[in-house]
Amino acid sequence: MFEKVLIANRGEIALRVQRACRELGVKSVVIYSEADRDAKYVKLADEAVCIGPARSAQSYLNIPSIIAACEITNAQAVHPGFGFLSENAEFARRVEESGFVFIGPRPDAIATMGDKVKAKEAMIKAGVPVVPGSDGELPYDNKEVIKIAKKVGYPVIIKAVAGGGGRGMRVVHEESELINALEITRSEAEAGFGNPAVYMERYLTLPRHIEIQVLADEYGNVIYLGERDCSMQRRHQKVIEEAPAPGITEEARRKIGEACVAACKLIRYRGAGTFEFLYENGEFFFIEMNTRVQVEHTITEMITGIDIVKEQLYIASGEKLRYTQADVKLKGHAIQCRINAEDPYTFVPSPGKIEGCHFAGGNGVRVDSHVYAGYSVPPYYDSMIAKLIAHAENRSHAINKMLGALKESSFIGIKTNIPLHQEMLQEHGFVEGEQSIHYLENYLKQRSR
Ligand code: ADP
Repeated sequence: MFEKVLIANRGEIALRVQRACRELGVKSVVIYSEADRDAKYVKLADEAVCIGPARSAQSYLNIPSIIAACEITNAQAVHPGFGFLSENAEFARRVEESGFVFIGPRPDAIATMGDKVKAKEAMIKAGVPVVPGSDGELPYDNKEVIKIAKKVGYPVIIKAVAGGGGRGMRVVHEESELINALEITRSEAEAGFGNPAVYMERYLTLPRHIEIQVLADEYGNVIYLGERDCSMQRRHQKVIEEAPAPGITEEARRKIGEACVAACKLIRYRGAGTFEFLYENGEFFFIEMNTRVQVEHTITEMITGIDIVKEQLYIASGEKLRYTQADVKLKGHAIQCRINAEDPYTFVPSPGKIEGCHFAGGNGVRVDSHVYAGYSVPPYYDSMIAKLIAHAENRSHAINKMLGALKESSFIGIKTNIPLHQEMLQEHGFVEGEQSIHYLENYLKQRSR
């Protein structure tokens, strides 16, 4: 195991990784921007290095500064967390070239999965079901594109090969809109991602978002840790997640899980990763792979008892996977609510000083949060301030437990989306389960205050 790990991130996930390091007796180094100077997790780390001003481009995205921080602290490895540089193949490559271990996949696997066309090709090869669509990039030939769309079948979605974060895609309902949409998406892709290449998929109208968590070691051993349902989304951002996904049979789980394992072996994947699928009428369709730990990894930890961040550290230090597939047993049901500093009705961010706060507790209640009374939520970054997780023997108990935990939680001085979570967990459709990715947005449209 490493003696010292540098955490190249901030906020909740920086603390999460720090906790795993502490448990393993590993010293942690955090990097921080000037805006995060006073955060408690910065003070709690064994060492801390300021790497620049508040703006991410000059701090959390500044590769030379981060590598310099590794050098001056003698850290052996870098944990990228999620967001920021976590899926940047160039960062992983430069970390390794500088003689440090990147706690994540090999740079070439990150690059393959970051190119959506290449990722799809790899999935097809491994037998993972994908959304039907164009074979690779769309040609620069409008007649040909019209033909392809006809074959795929309307509605279709045009997506940037280099897209991400829910940006760079456009739904087309009929042929008359196609070429205009194609041209806009191409120029947006060029401007936003520096790559005009786009591809086409059939647009699924009422899918759920279901994803499979995997762990893979250096030696080709791979396991899947079941699935999560992340269909409760607003603007493609997940709001509530749960595991297991309601209505998924053991047989369906095994089949899709084994396909993901085969894909990991094919691309020689290493570390923790997630295969994201749209799920409609009993069928899974791959959309993308996240080559990092995810915000919602917590609920999988609760139902499997496996600490995903600790396993990332073991894998990166060269250990063999410590679990076999037979060791993975799902127990009970877990739900996570992302608590954001935002207005629960307008969703306008609500940064500022937390004058007072109280976290829920009790058996099966988990809070992953870096904030405390007196902490100021900076305006520069993501608005998530806490993850509230409830684990119980079944789904209905987990919902009840979460409702209690939300009621116990309080934040004074800033607004949070807790009222939205409380509403959602009592909504008829959510309680029933198996809702599509449009459920929350549709609910918000008809919501009365
Ligand atoms: P990103 O990398 O930008 O997150 P994804 O490919 O994961 O892009 O897609 C983001 C979201 O867009 C999905 O969660 C889903 O809501 C929607 N989406 C993407 N592809 C399709 C499709 N073929 N049919 C329906 N919805 C889609």
